[in-house]
Amino acid sequence: MLSRTVDVIVLGAGIVGVSAAIALQARGRTVAIVDRLAEAAGETSFGNTGIVQSDGIFPYVFPRDLTEIALAALNRDPRAHIRHFALPSIAPALWRYFKASTAAGRNETALAMAALVGRASAEHRKLAEAAGAGALLRQTGWIKVWRGGRGEQAVHEEIAELKPFGIAPVLLDRAALEALEPHVGAAALGGAHFADPLTTPNPQGLTKSYAALFAKRGGRMEIGDARSLAQSGPGWTVATSSGPLSARDVVIALGPWSNDLAREHGLRLPFFVKRGYHMHYQAKGAAGLNRPVLDLEKGYVVTPMALGLRLTTGAEFARAHDAPSPAHLERLEPFARDMFPLGPRKDAAPWLGRRPCLPDMRPIIGPFPGKPGLWLNFAHQHLGLTLGPIGGCLLVEVMTGEPPFVDPAPFRAERFG
Ligand SMILES: Cc1cc2nc3c(=O)[nH]c(=O)nc-3n(C[C@H](O)[C@H](O)[C@H](O)COP(=O)(O)OP(=O)(O)OC[C@H]3O[C@@H](n4cnc5c(N)ncnc54)[C@H](O)[C@@H]3O)c2cc1C
Repeated sequence: MLSRTVDVIVLGAGIVGVSAAIALQARGRTVAIVDRLAEAAGETSFGNTGIVQSDGIFPYVFPRDLTEIALAALNRDPRAHIRHFALPSIAPALWRYFKASTAAGRNETALAMAALVGRASAEHRKLAEAAGAGALLRQTGWIKVWRGGRGEQAVHEEIAELKPFGIAPVLLDRAALEALEPHVGAAALGGAHFADPLTTPNPQGLTKSYAALFAKRGGRMEIGDARSLAQSGPGWTVATSSGPLSARDVVIALGPWSNDLAREHGLRLPFFVKRGYHMHYQAKGAAGLNRPVLDLEKGYVVTPMALGLRLTTGAEFARAHDAPSPAHLERLEPFARDMFPLGPRKDAAPWLGRRPCLPDMRPIIGPFPGKPGLWLNFAHQHLGLTLGPIGGCLLVEVMTGEPPFVDPAPFRAERFG
């Protein structure tokens, strides 16, 4: 087959790859997205909680308190779940995550992330409007509810910390919570309504609508295996089902699979995944939710989705490719049934996703060190839906040499030495 050429190949059709591809098109580049699946958002971008988390400035850090660590290690804190057989393999990554989780590290990441998350909603709005998918973004915000003093205190601390960034959630007593969410159970004593974040009832549908916009603007979606990436002359080639495809520039946006490819090309990163599950439930009778609600002390969210009430779990620590386990969801489900109007399960088995992470909880957006024409756009951890479009803007500014809207240094791969 004849080789075909575009300006840029984006590897990966999740929210991160699709958004970057659209941003490149806007600079006049011809772009093809290559994914092993025929449709966009078939993996992590399908199953998330659906919050464009414009309040997500401070990263989720590894606990530093010894009691908290001990409880987590023994699987006594439902916010996380450890698959103990995997510990020998994942311990080095957890150790690096622990070491990066200092107060100073947390603040450094918050300062770097503030500029990105602050513009995340605006970029989503632009894309959704252009894609005719405005109805897939809801201006509902989300609520964090507490069951007791510990949760309430955590919310107050968070509010104080976010104030300098102009984020001011509304505190809700039980009556105010009931007014917004009449079907949240009595176990929730109060909450905080983060009113600004957009939410979506269909994260996959949203990304697919952006992919359709990309195609409408002349972009090509091709099926192929990113592992076929090879240097050829001054550029790169990927094998696709339509034949070899060449480009001067290639963007690696393979979400949790990005690190495998980066390693094959010689880049060693302290990459790990935080796995997470979802399950859909029928709502009981006419009950329901109007927006995502986090059960703060237990660490899971229930979101009203097009497919039903979606419960998403916090972090499961295991190797990326370990088989799924029902254990974390089963630990959380009784708490969720106590708090939310959950009827029967709707899925045959829990869906498993993997949040692609680096120890400082910042994505990599920038050049592949020492490989001209190769670019990295991954490790968006808990915030890939949020950061896809705005991260695409930053990547393109770095690629084209335009003045970037934010200092790209905190997002470069070189920060790991
Ligand atoms: C339970 C859970 C809840 C979450 N909730 C939120 C939330 O509310 N808000 C938020 O902002 N973020 C959330 N996230 C995080 C967010 O979903 C991810 O950060 C984001 O989806 C990552 O997008 P991506 O495009 O990088 O990766 P993916 O969506 O995983 O896309 C990667 C693509 O690469 C393709 N691929 C992989 N290997 C190959 C190969 N060899 N060849 C070709 N193609 C390949 C895959 O098919 C896939 O299409 C959540 C994550 C989880 C797990």
